[in-house]
Amino acid sequence: MKLTGLHYIAGQPSASGSRTFTATDPATATALPTAFHEATDQEVDAAVQAAAAAEYHRATAAQRAALLDTIATQLLDLGETLVERCRAETGLPAGRIQGERGRTVNQLRLFSAVLREGSWVDARIDRADPDREPTPQPDIRSMLQPLGPVGVFGAGNFPLAFSVAGGDTASALAGGCPVIVKGHPSHPGTSELVGRAIVAAVAACGLPAGTFSLLQGQGHEVGQALVRHPLLAAVGFTGSYRGGKALFDAANQRPRPIPVYAEMGSTNPVFILPEALRERGAAIAEGLTQSVTLGVGQFCTNPGLVFLAPEAAAAGTFRDAVARQFAAVEADTMLNDGIAVAYAAGVERLQSELTLLAKGRERDTGYAGTAYVFHAPARRFLENERLEEEVFGPATITLTAETREELLDGARRLGGHLTATVFGTEADLRDHADLLAILAQKAGRVIVNNFPTGVEVGHAMVHGGPFPATTDSRSTSVGTRAIARFARPVCYQNFPDWLLPAALQEANPLGIRRLVDGTWTG
Ligand code: NAP
Repeated sequence: MKLTGLHYIAGQPSASGSRTFTATDPATATALPTAFHEATDQEVDAAVQAAAAAEYHRATAAQRAALLDTIATQLLDLGETLVERCRAETGLPAGRIQGERGRTVNQLRLFSAVLREGSWVDARIDRADPDREPTPQPDIRSMLQPLGPVGVFGAGNFPLAFSVAGGDTASALAGGCPVIVKGHPSHPGTSELVGRAIVAAVAACGLPAGTFSLLQGQGHEVGQALVRHPLLAAVGFTGSYRGGKALFDAANQRPRPIPVYAEMGSTNPVFILPEALRERGAAIAEGLTQSVTLGVGQFCTNPGLVFLAPEAAAAGTFRDAVARQFAAVEADTMLNDGIAVAYAAGVERLQSELTLLAKGRERDTGYAGTAYVFHAPARRFLENERLEEEVFGPATITLTAETREELLDGARRLGGHLTATVFGTEADLRDHADLLAILAQKAGRVIVNNFPTGVEVGHAMVHGGPFPATTDSRSTSVGTRAIARFARPVCYQNFPDWLLPAALQEANPLGIRRLVDGTWTG
């Protein structure tokens, strides 16, 4: 399939502007073929108008489920064309891209299964009671309904799973919301291939063309115009703190503010408790090195802060083991110029403030990232807020506590994170219930004796957390709970049964689980 470099607005290719940009192969720092058009304000407007007019919210759950399944099939049908373009644009190995495509397809199918089951709408029914004293109770029923057009921004480090057909698009379409994607400027060819697959799926399912549009752009104008559009109802964003906060602020400055679910960076603190440090420090050091350097450290769940319990000898042995392992890590290609430059600047800042424990092997082709591990006493973290800022790449900091209280102070001082991890023996964990309680207030996912990299897509997963990990800690961007982000409860009072949505009708024609007069049924 040949790339066009065009936008796809309500099913139609479009290119009304003259400005274009190209993608770059990060392994060689050379431009890739195909000039991609920058969307104009008129194109942004056309995409949102079409979404608002599409009446996709009236599609049945079965129709939405069929759409998600068809998108999954269309993605798989792109075969090697998709893998090859994605590899060229991101520098990620083919195996990783194939794995990510599998995850993206499974995610779409999981939401489809949720729709077919149907209970996610949270139907609640309080039946009328005309005899209630002192006043009769009217019939009151409520369920979740779609918010409206959702603007989706994907991240550069997950060109499939957090991009055009990624979690935000899947959850918004599942929830009955049309989607306008602003493609990531690092992988526009990948975005176009996936966007056209969704366009084809929308057409094949007989759904309104405005259900999906893809706008491309390099620079913030397109995204800002999308978020400011008066008919946009919500935003799903995955990316940097700076980008997410800018879009959150733009959404709040609108005359009619809208929710922004921005999943941003995180340093994912790890705590290694005394017995575990003494008994299996070497194994944890090995796992930590792998977790920090996996994928050249370009994971939002990469552990960037490692607190060591006050066990001077064991902490020293642990640091030595980590240093040896980091020194052997080969530099590898980072996703793009901007990420490589920001990583180098972040490492330089850490180097000026902390002790360098070890540095991996260097390479000077393309946008290569070298592994680094630093060290400081834990009290330095208490004094220096900037140590908590994400340095996106294969770097981490070990922080040795002098007392148990210092370890707890480190946890208390944390802002919001996607994950917080504790390594401990059973005795350690019993002795540190207070630490675990603090961490549950700080992170969306608290982990015991596992590394945080690797986010399962399931029903129970929470990939979120308090600010600045996200702009709204009440939900998740991964897993089926995400569907509720793009919905709001609507109450129907005193409706005749035939006029109610099927989910709320007395006979429960959808056979879903409902809360009827205070009792869960179905
Ligand atoms: P990014 O630079 O923030 O870009 C994400 C998207 O936002 C792009 O489409 C970008 O396009 C747009 N954007 C950025 N700043 C903007 C602004 N001021 N106004 C309007 N649009 C803006 O993110 P990235 O570099 O691709 O991704 C790396 C970051 O994502 C890391 O920090 C990583 O931790 C984080 N991440 C988080 C998660 C998570 O689930 N929490 C998952 C993966 C990655 P333009 O530049 O064209 O505007």
